Amino acid sequence: MKKYRVSLNEKIDLDEWDADDTSGFKGNKEKAEKYIASLTEELDCLQDKFYADSRFKLLIVLQGMDTSGKDGVIRHVFEGVDPLGVRVASFKVPTKEEFSHDYLWRIHKQVPGNGEIVIFNRSHYEDVLVVRVHNLVPQEKWSLRYEQINQFEKMLYEEGTTIIKFLLHISKDEQRQRLLDRRNDPTKQWKFNVDDLKERELWQEYKKAYEIMLEKTSTEWAPWYIVPANHKWYRNLVIGEVIIDTLQSLGLEYPKPVEDIKSIEII
Ligand code: AMP
Ligand code: MG
Repeated sequence: MKKYRVSLNEKIDLDEWDADDTSGFKGNKEKAEKYIASLTEELDCLQDKFYADSRFKLLIVLQGMDTSGKDGVIRHVFEGVDPLGVRVASFKVPTKEEFSHDYLWRIHKQVPGNGEIVIFNRSHYEDVLVVRVHNLVPQEKWSLRYEQINQFEKMLYEEGTTIIKFLLHISKDEQRQRLLDRRNDPTKQWKFNVDDLKERELWQEYKKAYEIMLEKTSTEWAPWYIVPANHKWYRNLVIGEVIIDTLQSLGLEYPKPVEDIKSIEII
């Protein structure tokens, strides 16, 4: 999964990253699904240990164009885990109160505590994406944010938070298919938003904003992964694997009982 990880200052052209990639599985969805089921089980075990251990905090950031599958990742990758200890924070257009504060104010309130996994469905990166594309604040302000974000994440890291960031990378054609699907499927129409079509017209501007974000904010303490996301099953597989690897590297332990509880009689 290392090949999907971005290095700091790496020049990124997203056209060179294959959104259709299914790597070793070569489109073999059945084989992959068995493997994904084993990942789901493994993640469940690790999360249980993570919660019990309670020494670490994990922050997972999901970003991607409309229809890239942020909601789907949350539903599928975390389907087996105990809702105790896992929380989702979704970031929409800032409220009046949020907007009257600095852009990290609402973010900081949602970061994980000990033993907690928090998934950000969109994040502070909107403040260098949609904000940059639409010039919602002057350039003098948003251009400073990359470094501010790096330092904010560094502080979280130094205080014990592990941070992993995923860009769900879909192609423009795939987005068209998914928007058509939303338009035509009565169970998905509630998600269809005509504003998404206006954003789609700005595909190139968003692509550029994503590329600069990846280049400037994939630090050692909070790396970005570019996840091929045209195939939903492969997207889930990559994200599942990266999270499992990360949790395994922490050296999690179930806390030892404070005394020899085996000798305690239970009547
Ligand atoms: P959705 O994720 O489809 O519910 O849409 C949420 C919308 O909120 C997206 O269009 C985001 O671009 C927008 N949004 C999120 N954060 C910000 C922000 N900081 N400033 C402006 N728009 C934002
Ligand atoms: Mg949307």
